[in-house]
Amino acid sequence: MATRVPGPLTLQETPAPERQVVASVQGLTRRFGERTVLDRLDLEVARGEFIALLGRSGSGKSTLLRALAGLDGEAEGGLSVTGSVAVAFQEPRLVPWKRVHANITLGLAVPNPKENADAALAEVGLSERAGAWPLTLSGGEAQRASLARALVREPDLLLLDEPFSALDALTRITIHQLVLQLWSAHRPSVLLVTHDVDEALLLADRVLVLDAGRIAHESVISAERPRHRDHPDLTSLRT
Ligand code: ADP
Ligand code: MG
Repeated sequence: MATRVPGPLTLQETPAPERQVVASVQGLTRRFGERTVLDRLDLEVARGEFIALLGRSGSGKSTLLRALAGLDGEAEGGLSVTGSVAVAFQEPRLVPWKRVHANITLGLAVPNPKENADAALAEVGLSERAGAWPLTLSGGEAQRASLARALVREPDLLLLDEPFSALDALTRITIHQLVLQLWSAHRPSVLLVTHDVDEALLLADRVLVLDAGRIAHESVISAERPRHRDHPDLTSLRT
């Protein structure tokens, strides 16, 4: 092996951590009849990054998420996702005739679904409600259950479609905190659709604006700023 002799001007050779791409969209186009909703859209999602996606109602945010989730067979263009994807919607979409616990394990193909569901419910602070019927949950609890259902799938890419917009302001803050905790612990890439600019700036590393079928604007947010987890602890509040 050759010995390396540093010259007089030795640069630090610590390589930057390699940027892995979890999802890549190239020229994605989606038409509904005459209307082109996504128009040759390009997007790359890096491993572990938290993206907020803003855009007017009807700009195609949910359409893009559906395509990324593999729920849209009619989008044209390039789309590749590495690993597993989980989605949480604005309405938690729990199956009403199955208890919370059974909702979490529904369709879950792992060796110990029950244990995994217990762990996920504990993580979102919902262990006590595991045996409850979904219709008896508060809005915040239902959203926690929805997050647990996504989390238990250990997604590489977590798609959140306006999951907080139906919650009251205080509950929303505690759920923000929870999402940041979960993100720090598991580091999935997150693509969060929101119409709340403050929420986007608070949670995300990168804020994108969808307009006229493309990413029309992008801001990278300083990682140094305080996030909710640095704010007074509100996690003990009931949601
Ligand atoms: P956003 O989530 O940004 O509010 P959507 O992605 O839900 O917007 O919808 C974008 C546009 O595509 C809207 O005009 C909507 O009416 C239309 N659209 C979405 N899904 C369908 C569908 N299945 N059939 C026809 N039009 C649709
Ligand atoms: Mg939408």
